[in-house]
Amino acid sequence: MISPIKRRKSIPVNVGDVIVGGDNPIAVQSMTNTDTADIDNTVNQIDHLHQAGSELVRITVNNDQAAKAVPYIKEKLINRGVTVPVIGDFHYNGHLLLTKYPEMAKSLAKFRINPGNTGTKTRDKNFCTIVEQAVKYSKPVRIGVNWGSLDQQLLAQYMDVNNQRKEPKSSKEVMLDTMVESARRSTALAEDVGLPSDKIVVSCKMSGVQDLINVYRRIADDLPYALHLGLTEAGMGMKGTVASSVALAILLQEGIGDTIRVSLTPMPGADRAEEVRICQQILQSLGIRSFIPQVTACPGCGRTKSTYFQELADDIQKYIVEMMPVWREIYPGVEEMDVAVMGCVVNGPGESRHANIGISLPGTFEEPKAPVYIDGEHHSTLKGDNIGAEFRQLLEEYIQKNYTRKEEEKEISQI
Ligand code: SF4
Repeated sequence: MISPIKRRKSIPVNVGDVIVGGDNPIAVQSMTNTDTADIDNTVNQIDHLHQAGSELVRITVNNDQAAKAVPYIKEKLINRGVTVPVIGDFHYNGHLLLTKYPEMAKSLAKFRINPGNTGTKTRDKNFCTIVEQAVKYSKPVRIGVNWGSLDQQLLAQYMDVNNQRKEPKSSKEVMLDTMVESARRSTALAEDVGLPSDKIVVSCKMSGVQDLINVYRRIADDLPYALHLGLTEAGMGMKGTVASSVALAILLQEGIGDTIRVSLTPMPGADRAEEVRICQQILQSLGIRSFIPQVTACPGCGRTKSTYFQELADDIQKYIVEMMPVWREIYPGVEEMDVAVMGCVVNGPGESRHANIGISLPGTFEEPKAPVYIDGEHHSTLKGDNIGAEFRQLLEEYIQKNYTRKEEEKEISQI
């Protein structure tokens, strides 16, 4: 896929077997919301997130029980064949836990520290203790500044300096300056303690889209490290999805960002992996990476009164999501396929011709037939009550013909 995006140069960081930064693919990541001490539930959710496409998974390590559970979680994942890098998220007591539980520290692929949450009087000392453990076990660290827990001492210093100015900045501007400074001084401190630059990832998360863009543009210019991108506390449902998408898309388009996470608040019982699929869709919509075949469907209008084409588009979309774990293994490249499901003759044939495979359903008062186009050519015309099943069959045949691995073709022909 051709992408006009010129990536910002960042220092690559090995996180387990995933390289974040440099010219490496922008990695999708997510975070569990299970109690880490509940080993089985946490293992199941990490596995689920990974199956959905999360290339890195973060878990909270917030107390002794969680810290003790980490090596068992890792062991159970390995027994299942799940090798996704697991990252530990530390606040307030990370310096104590990482020192007290060396097996936990060794089991993790990366530590995440929030420099605003490492203590008050002994803030820098605790921060340095965490970094020392990272150096000791050769682990990378994400220095994750967050405006909801911004270093209050630093903010107070910046506010004091601002108050002395002839023309003071707004408190919002001072807060943004402090975010950037917190990232700058924390990374410098980590390097002073001995953490190499290729073991540092930085994030500066905000919950406002414009603020996030402002801060990331600045740290992208100022710092050489790989950047983790995400809108913090994005919210629920459509609001969270749209806000995250627009914020991340603008920065990604400017080449900023080496790994992304969408921090959605799920509805109780909702699928946690939704945040993974949104990340993938953001990257795929921008033409940066491909994860799943895309279904192009028209919005419908007065020219097609039946809901049949909407149902068919939905059915095909669901079928693709369901089949993708299997197709990914046996049909390399299938994720780049385009499928069109269109509602009438106005744009139907045109859009279908541009897709790898497309169908144009009959609009109101049109003849009850549905032409199918494959690679731009009219292939066949479907009629009757079975159009959905027949189109799915054509889709399967198209995938088998165009994406089967050469070795598998040989095996199939020998049967
Ligand atoms: S393709 Fe036809 S049904 Fe779909 S939006 Fe366009 S005119 Fe309306």
